[in-house]
Parts: sequence; structure tokens; C-alpha cells
Amino acid sequence: MKTVDVLIVGAGITGITAASILARKENKTVLIVEKRDHIGGNCYDSYNEDGILIHLYGPHIFHTQHKEVWEYLSQFTDWLAYVHHVKAFVDNKHITFPININTLEALFEKPFSKQSMREYLKNESIYIPEIKNAEDMVISRMGKPIYEKFFKNYTKKQWGLDARALAPEITARIPIRLDRNDRFFTDPYQGIPEKGYTALFNTMLNHENIQVITGKGYNDVKKTIQFDKMIYTGPVDEFFGYKYGYLPYRGINFYFKTYDQKKRLPVAVVNYPNDHAYTRATEFKHMTFQQHEKTCLCYEFPEDSENGKAEPVPSYPVLNDKSLKRYQLYLKETKNHKNIIFMGRLGKFEYLNMDMCVKKVLACFCTSS
Ligand SMILES: Cc1cc2nc3c(=O)[nH]c(=O)nc-3n(C[C@H](O)[C@H](O)[C@H](O)COP(=O)(O)OP(=O)(O)OC[C@H]3O[C@@H](n4cnc5c(N)ncnc54)[C@H](O)[C@@H]3O)c2cc1C
Repeated sequence: MKTVDVLIVGAGITGITAASILARKENKTVLIVEKRDHIGGNCYDSYNEDGILIHLYGPHIFHTQHKEVWEYLSQFTDWLAYVHHVKAFVDNKHITFPININTLEALFEKPFSKQSMREYLKNESIYIPEIKNAEDMVISRMGKPIYEKFFKNYTKKQWGLDARALAPEITARIPIRLDRNDRFFTDPYQGIPEKGYTALFNTMLNHENIQVITGKGYNDVKKTIQFDKMIYTGPVDEFFGYKYGYLPYRGINFYFKTYDQKKRLPVAVVNYPNDHAYTRATEFKHMTFQQHEKTCLCYEFPEDSENGKAEPVPSYPVLNDKSLKRYQLYLKETKNHKNIIFMGRLGKFEYLNMDMCVKKVLACFCTSS
């Protein structure tokens, strides 16, 4: 029997941040158990067989408005000053996304100003008294032509459902910009860890109080470890043996292809709303600034998935009345386990960006946050 102060299940950014804080700030002994054969969770990056640094679970760009989050991670890494840009491939052109003045100019092949863009949106947007779904949300803000060219088919590929069957929140947060700002994220802090995410995480884990076991799940080790506290960042439904059923996820199959050329795409990420079965392609060299004779692209093919299955990678929680009710049943059960903290995107059944994972851990263990 092994004894530690804290057992952490899952070596994603949530579990690793918790380990780092508990070991350094509270001098706790920590054991992390990770079922995959690598650390980093979905933020994991590694060099492929050609020596190109790739993100195995899709492109990850760190961005935050929270200074304390940026400062915490900056103790362990320097940052590449990468600013994220996205294009949508529409009408055979690479067009700026999210929608701004440049988008309309490329789409309609004529000049626009702030004023004429405002008029365009006013003329095209349709008044919908009660916004009931993701389609209503876009049409009421941007009108039908933009909805049909940029959103309709993309949403269907991404979620496997028509936008009319999806909640308005799915499309509500996509901005419209009455300027030429084509930064995808507007957060003041933005970048990619200088040597990659895995290198950052290895530095965070490099402490005498932290041990990591990979390739073993919680169920494999639970009878052999004694702990005062557990932080569980795996799927909450799995922890309770799926007693109320699976929590649904939209999964992604990631397909990587290396090309014998230095660069292939105009920016790091290109969305394909209307062409191909994949939703988007990522060219990592734009983000990592790596110099290499070849380049590697990742194509994302969404597909439904459930926790407990490795393929496709459970990526986005499907949040609807049924799944949220089911989650509430699990949440109630978690309250019976006073020495276990359920955290992270899987432990809480919510979509979280990386910065929010770190922020939530800081809030939990650092009272000043
Ligand atoms: C396609 C895609 C792109 C994204 N891009 C961005 C981005 O650009 N910027 C951004 O901020 N965020 C991005 N995100 C979100 C980001 O991936 C998450 O914020 C982050 O991965 C969540 O970390 P986590 O530690 O909570 O969960 P995870 O990364 O999922 O880590 C949980 C870990 O627990 C392990 N585990 C599960 N069950 C068990 C068990 N029973 N026993 C042991 N181990 C277990 C898993 O193997 C996993 O390694 C993206 C997400 C997706 C899907």
C-alpha cells in the first residue's frame, strides 16, 4: 500500500496545475495517475516521425484575460508571441473569420466601411422575437447569406445536428466586428509555450513531492493507494460506474498528414464550412514558428462519442436538457464524497478553455485568487 497526501486522477492541465500548487505551496506529497501513456491530457504535443511538433488532440492556443493565470504558468515557461488567425474557405477563397470588414470585402468583392458594414447587417439581419436556436441567433445578428456561407454546414458537421436543433448559445459567442481586427482571440495574454505544452507540464511536474504514473487508470490503482484527499479529473460518469447512463460528447477523429513543402495554409487554422467531411485544418508550423523543410496538417472529423471510449476523442460535451439532468444526478452523488474534489472538463462535464482550468485550480487552492 502506497500512502500520499493527495491522489490526482488525470494528468491534464487541471491535474498538473493542482499537483504543482499542492506540492510547492502546501508541501503535500502528490501522486498523479494517468490512464494514457503520456501526460498533458488533450493539450499534449509531441514531435512526429518527421520531427515536426504537433498537437495530438487538435490545435491549442493559450489565451486569457486573467493576469494571475498567465503569471502562474509563466513561472514555468517563456511564450512564443503567437497571435491566432483563422480563415474560412468560402466561395473558393480564404476569408477572414470571425466576420469583419475584410470578410465582407472578400465575399462581395467591393469596398466596405464601418458605416456600410453596419448598413449591410441592418438590411440583412432578420428580426426574430424569440431566439430559439443556433440558426435564429446567427440570422438575427448577421442575416441569411452569412449564415448560409459560414455557419449552416459547419454547425451541422461539427455537431451532427441542424443548427435549428441546437441551443442559441452555440453560435451566440461568435463576434461580429465592425473593424478590420482579425485576431481570433481578443484576450490581452496570448501565446504558445516556447518549448511546447508537454515541456511546460514536465517543468511543472518537476518537484520532489510529485510522482506520476502513466498508462494506468484509477481503477487499476485504487486498491493500492491510501490518500487524505483525491482530485478526480476523469469523467464523472465513469467514476460512478455510469449508473445514470453515459454523458454524451461530440468527439473528434484527428487525421495527420505531412507534406513535402514548407508551408501549405495561409494561417494556422482554416475552417471548411461547405467543402470536405472535415471541419477544419491546422498547420502547426504557423503556431510554433518551427523551421522545417516539411509541414504537417491536422484534419478534424467530428463524430459522436461517449466517455469511456478512446476514439473518437471525447471533445465537446453535448449540453442539452437530457444530458444536464443526467449530470445533476452525478453531481448530487459527488457531494457524498467529502474527500474528493471533482474538477476539470470531464469531472465537471463542461467545456473549459485551458485558462479556465488553471483559474479554477488557483481559486480552489490559492485563497488570494
Ligand atoms: C479540439 C479542441 C481544441 C481546443 N483548443 C483549445 C485552445 O485553443 N485553447 C484553449 O484554451 N483550450 C482549448 N481546448 C480546451 C482544452 O483542451 C481543455 O481546456 C483542457 O484539455 C482541459 O484539461 P483537463 O485537465 O480538464 O482535461 P483533459 O485534458 O481531458 O485531462 C484529463 C486527463 O484525465 C485522464 N483520465 C481520464 N479518466 C481517467 C482515469 N479513470 N484514470 C486515470 N486518468 C484518467 C485522461 O486520459 C486525460 O489525460 C480545446 C479543446 C478541444 C476539444
